[in-house]
Amino acid sequence: MIEDGHCRRTVHAEINGLLFVQGQYENLQLYSTHQPCYQCMKALLTIGIKRVCYLTTYKDEIRDQILEESKQKYGIMIQYFGGS
Ligand SMILES: [Zn+2]
Repeated sequence: MIEDGHCRRTVHAEINGLLFVQGQYENLQLYSTHQPCYQCMKALLTIGIKRVCYLTTYKDEIRDQILEESKQKYGIMIQYFGGS
């Protein structure tokens, strides 16, 4: 099932990574090839992520908005390593 150009049947890499996190960590960081989507970012915030680094942006207003809110409200460090 494709929705907004993305397959909804797959587990996103961010969620897949979280499934392998066991125990309590104080400084969780995500390094990803792509900007997390809204659903993944919600899960990352829930687990207490402290830093999100990504290489490719989707130039998606909703993704940009949740990343900005994550910085403002929760103090998450967001770093984009791609071009300008
Ligand atoms: Zn996602």
